[in-house]
Amino acid sequence: EHEELLAEVTRCQALEMELRMQANNDMLTGLSNRRAFFEEGHRRLSKWPQTLVLIDLDFFKSVNDEYGHDIGDHVLVKMAQLLSDNFEPEALLSRLGGEEFAFLSSLEPGLLIDQLQEVNRMLVTHPMRIKQHEIEMSLSAGVVSVEQHGDLQEGLIQADTCLYKAKRNGRCQIHSV
Ligand code: GH3
Ligand code: MG
Ligand code: MG
Repeated sequence: EHEELLAEVTRCQALEMELRMQANNDMLTGLSNRRAFFEEGHRRLSKWPQTLVLIDLDFFKSVNDEYGHDIGDHVLVKMAQLLSDNFEPEALLSRLGGEEFAFLSSLEPGLLIDQLQEVNRMLVTHPMRIKQHEIEMSLSAGVVSVEQHGDLQEGLIQADTCLYKAKRNGRCQIHSV
């Protein structure tokens, strides 16, 4: 009787963990999803100012068109890995959707811009190898400062304006306000 109850509690706890994981993580890349980004982002901004980075992969549709959706998915997984390897582990890195990523960091915008440019240099000099393909990727990004208690949604709108300028200016570049 007692043991059955214990087993049931353990089962419920495992289920709860699984549900929590599914609610907060992007299935494909394992990064935080949009929901978790906003929830944890608000929490961080209530305590500290943050630098917000919005990233969009360049010409990603042509990867799908040329190599297929499956290879496109691989590229997204590799990009997620590359980004989490290249930014500090404390940063809140998320896949907002599609080929769009965002992160919040306590580091200064200038430092993050350098790091993002380094990622682009790496992507251009070492194309991604997926199956038999060599795929040259690059990213465009917008970087903005959000003050403590600042509005994350507002920050994303500003970052998106910067990102738009990076795209219009030829892609593979980082713009800030
Ligand atoms: P730009 O440089 O202007 O950003 O061009 P782009 O081709 O990257 O942008 P666009 O918005 O035209 O295309 C994004 C593509 O991303 C279209 C969509 O099919 C693809 N996509 C979105 N989510 C996924 C996904 O989960 N997997 C794959 N393989 N493709 C995805
Ligand atoms: Mg996009
Ligand atoms: Mg894109």
